[in-house]
Amino acid sequence: MELVFATNNINKLREVQALLPEHIKLLSLKDIACLEDIPENQDTIEGNAIEKAIYIKKNYGYNCFADDTGLEVEALNGEPGVFSARYAGTQKNADDNMALLLENLKDKTNRDAHFKTVIALYVNNKLSTFTGICKGEIITKKSGDKGFGYDPIFKPKNYDITFAEMDLNLKNKISHRGKATKDLIAFLSNN
Ligand code: IMP
Repeated sequence: MELVFATNNINKLREVQALLPEHIKLLSLKDIACLEDIPENQDTIEGNAIEKAIYIKKNYGYNCFADDTGLEVEALNGEPGVFSARYAGTQKNADDNMALLLENLKDKTNRDAHFKTVIALYVNNKLSTFTGICKGEIITKKSGDKGFGYDPIFKPKNYDITFAEMDLNLKNKISHRGKATKDLIAFLSNN
């Protein structure tokens, strides 16, 4: 089956493709010549995932899934949340975002946080959603150079290393996106 994954992020595409069974062939936005920015105008992670999946189906006709992820930090009332990509500004720079988060947390003792991924699947006009959560904490300075986004400052619960110090296989097993993708795969296998 061909399925569009509505993302331009090559890291995410690789992560998800590695988890999919062979008979499901992922197409990127580039593969379907979708070069414009897909609207993400909702104020929730779930709303944005749904908006993106429906946009591809309506405008390009492909069965599609889209994900949206946010880092929700307890002491900051869930920030950066839906604004995770552009926390420090529209330049969407990971180093700037991490610097701002560390600054905003500098006087906080509670550093608990979690990543939340919602995947919206739109196949034959039927919508399904899958949610994955990975709990952990924000450490005080960056460690590791793998991964992307906030990985260097996020230490998942029960591990002594950050996501940025982890093999991709291990991150996939325990991550928010890995969990949501696992549910997506189970659904696709049974339907
Ligand atoms: P997106 O909705 O998947 O594009 O994620 C929004 C933002 O959350 C990204 O720009 C990253 O900064 C951050 N993010 C998403 N997934 C991860 C992850 O697995 N590790 C670290 N940061 C992530």
